[in-house]
Amino acid sequence: MVGGALGVALLAGVQLAPNASAAGVTTLYYSSAGAPDYVTQIDQAAANWNAAVTDIRLVEGGSATIVFHETDDGQGSYTSTDGHGHGQIYLDRQQVAEGFAPTRIAAHELGHNLGLSDDYSGPCSEIMSGHGPGTSCTNAVPDAAEAAQVQQNWANGFTPAKPEKVVG
Ligand SMILES: [Zn+2]
Repeated sequence: MVGGALGVALLAGVQLAPNASAAGVTTLYYSSAGAPDYVTQIDQAAANWNAAVTDIRLVEGGSATIVFHETDDGQGSYTSTDGHGHGQIYLDRQQVAEGFAPTRIAAHELGHNLGLSDDYSGPCSEIMSGHGPGTSCTNAVPDAAEAAQVQQNWANGFTPAKPEKVVG
């Protein structure tokens, strides 16, 4: 996929594969412009994933397929994603006000976009345990098993998107 064709197709509203390079590293572009209060935390969450895995690279900007927003409705943070690098992520300011760490929330929702599922009963050392361990848990770094699962998911670059689903 060359850049020009990608741009035209995106303008036409066609959902495309993220760009998988010959080296086996898939670059996923995200946008934090819609979540201006959490730009720093989103960048840190992406950096944590980048430090944990080698076959995907989360980069701010470009033609973002992962788009952050912030809400203030108390419904909790969530994402609508296909688990294959396309998604809308909503960070709930009220959830942050309750004491949940925004970097952990961002890392968790990114995890869904990388193909991981919730594990609310898991320990704080897991990102996908989400709000389960409570507000005292501020860990925003995926554990070894989560990193290994993402490595496996993306080992062969992009795989076809599943229908999007909404998860918290
Ligand atoms: Zn979740």
